[in-house]
Amino acid sequence: MERIQQGFQKRTVAKSRGRRVTCEDVKRFGKNNLFVLFTVVAVVAGVVLGFCLRKYHMSYRQVKYFSFPGELLMRMLQMMVMPLIISSLVTGMAALDSKASGKMGLRAVVYYTTTTVLAVITGIIMVLIIHPGAGGKDKMHREGKIEKVHSTDAFMDLVRNMFPPNLVEACFKQFKTGYDRRKVSRGALGNVSHGPALFITNVTQAMKLLLEARDELVPVPGSVNSVNALGLVVFSVGFGLVIGAMKEEGRAVGEFFNCLNEAIMRLVSVITWYAPVGILFLIAGKIVEMEDMSVVGGQLGMYTITVIVGLMIHALVVLPTLYFIITRKNPFVFIGGMVQALVTALGTSSSSATLPITFRCLEDKIGLDKRVTRFVLPVGATINMDGTALYEALAAIFIAQVNNFDLNFGQILTISITATAASIGAAGIPQAGLVTMVIVLTSVGLPTDDISLIIAVDWFLDRLRTTTNVLGDSLGAGIVEHLSRHELQEMDLHADEQMKKPYQLMSQDHENERVLGSETTM
Ligand code: ASP
Repeated sequence: MERIQQGFQKRTVAKSRGRRVTCEDVKRFGKNNLFVLFTVVAVVAGVVLGFCLRKYHMSYRQVKYFSFPGELLMRMLQMMVMPLIISSLVTGMAALDSKASGKMGLRAVVYYTTTTVLAVITGIIMVLIIHPGAGGKDKMHREGKIEKVHSTDAFMDLVRNMFPPNLVEACFKQFKTGYDRRKVSRGALGNVSHGPALFITNVTQAMKLLLEARDELVPVPGSVNSVNALGLVVFSVGFGLVIGAMKEEGRAVGEFFNCLNEAIMRLVSVITWYAPVGILFLIAGKIVEMEDMSVVGGQLGMYTITVIVGLMIHALVVLPTLYFIITRKNPFVFIGGMVQALVTALGTSSSSATLPITFRCLEDKIGLDKRVTRFVLPVGATINMDGTALYEALAAIFIAQVNNFDLNFGQILTISITATAASIGAAGIPQAGLVTMVIVLTSVGLPTDDISLIIAVDWFLDRLRTTTNVLGDSLGAGIVEHLSRHELQEMDLHADEQMKKPYQLMSQDHENERVLGSETTM
């Protein structure tokens, strides 16, 4: 039914081409793009309002009250994310046969890897050319503190989070290694491992072990309060595939998730009415709260410009070119349909919270096949973060530059690999990239404390990299749909045949009855 409606919409659009533009057309255009218009106006109004209110030097409490409508939008969108990820992935995977999902999955992974690597390369080239870190770090402004993480533990946490032991807990908690300072005695450990015969036998030995004992940071299991999106994605993909393979038996569960998905999307359309108001207050609140911009001079200013240029090259040149080369369609028409999602990403700094709006834009405005969006988008929003990867590689090299640390080719390669991994591990929430940057810095022995040099501008750069992340996911969905068009058509044909079968059987039965009836009357 959906496909028939999509086809009808496409035919209507095609028919309307080549006809004179009437007043009705203008009205319809205005109505269709009203949200986009409101959202763009909200951004401009938010910036103006924010700058106007700065002169009143509001207290922290007043700023929090002022940003309340924005906070509500964040909460509403976040409320949708978890059921949306699960229901869309389960239905998306169940709707595809294993061959199609395998191919589509492979295409998506190749796209994610290629674009992330391209983003990292762009970031590295930009920071090496502009060299914003020249001049050392002595006079630079510092802000905040960074929690230390061991890179091996961070990688292991990423893999651990893929398999949450408790699905209910995964909806609100993630595993995160913590650190505890404990006295560790090598001797004692050695003795224990050699069996009871070698246990401490006298006081002298005990004293010796005590003296040898060292204070060591040991990894201990811990957690953070945040949706474990990666774990939910892995489970939902597997569950959806199984439901699909169960055919008739799995149909009831598939339909349940399909219905859940439709219901969530309807709720999302209600939220979109409120989105412009929320975005206005989110942006205005952030501008009011912003530190004095005088810190953004010298190297920090140059660093900010380098990140902006890098992100723009990736978002406006690299990704659109890739889209054009593969699909032969105008990428800017596609981007035009995404404006509402891009502005939401700019306002919320969270690709997860933007996910519901991204779905709406891609399915309703651009008209991508739901079998593709439902599969590709949640995975993309969780693991594909081009903007974050670009930023992490660039920021790490900037920190090396301000420390006068000469990086060789091997170290730059290490930064590229860890930045890619860190972007996969970063959650789609505000400033998550700043936290995973520790992994990149420790991989080449750079001081993690120097992250405090770039915190002052991170709230702003985060908005831009989140917008790039959302754009990357969306263009990826467009590219995967284009590359998978034959399989999708084949599936449509197959589905049509399946639908026709009962009718054919019915008409066959009818024909038999007719023949039988005429024979008996004879
Ligand atoms: N805020 C980004 C996002 O949600 C992640 C990051 O901090 O880079 O996509």
